[in-house]
Amino acid sequence: MRLRNKPWAVELVKDHPESVLDRPDPEVKIDWTSRFSKPEQPLEIEVGSGKGHFITTLAEQHPERNFVAVELQITAAGIILRTKLEKRLDNLQILCADAAALDSFFAPNSTNVIYLNFSDPWPKTRHEKRRLTYQSFLQRYEKVLMADGHLEFKTDNAGLFAYSLKSMNNYGMHFDFVSVDLHHEVEEIVAQNVETEYEHKFAAQGNPIYALHADFGVK
Ligand code: SAM
Repeated sequence: MRLRNKPWAVELVKDHPESVLDRPDPEVKIDWTSRFSKPEQPLEIEVGSGKGHFITTLAEQHPERNFVAVELQITAAGIILRTKLEKRLDNLQILCADAAALDSFFAPNSTNVIYLNFSDPWPKTRHEKRRLTYQSFLQRYEKVLMADGHLEFKTDNAGLFAYSLKSMNNYGMHFDFVSVDLHHEVEEIVAQNVETEYEHKFAAQGNPIYALHADFGVK
């Protein structure tokens, strides 16, 4: 998803350095404890948040957890920031950066959950390394996640889902939950699901939503 540049969003990001880290130097360690009012709370990260419906909804539902939206595009970061400010979400920070350097931005064993939602599929084989479930990304997630942490992944793209299952399996990950039709699982699972913008759109078109939860086993 490439968003058209919105000057107001860029300005808003510039005006709120306390809420958004805009393309920080990966060589400089980020002190997340100074950026959250309750730093002792568990930390959850979404990689590729888009306009942020998922992460802002979770942050609103769970004030007892801290969240970071990691998003490459500054316009998307500005849109997430607008919602954060409107809803006064003290427990949400925004990191405008490439997740390829995730392990420079977060300390080892610091994160409870990483969410990947409707990641760009990069269907061409020559672009495999850009997929957020390629092994080099899995290595970074493994570093940053705590021993009992886990990854949650959702997509409408059957090809990316099949690729991700294979990539995670080859990496030695364990699957706690796999669904090829998340929106038609038992009521308890459907009720807990927080939709993303893409999910809302594709599910409305009748597409099945694929989902999995996986962990890296004992470290
Ligand atoms: N998660 C949202 C949803 O489900 O509606 C947005 C999905 S959109 C297809 C993918 C998003 O991931 C885009 O906003 C894109 O800028 C972001 N993205 C892609 N690669 C990224 C990377 N390496 N680091 C951070 N964000 C990335």
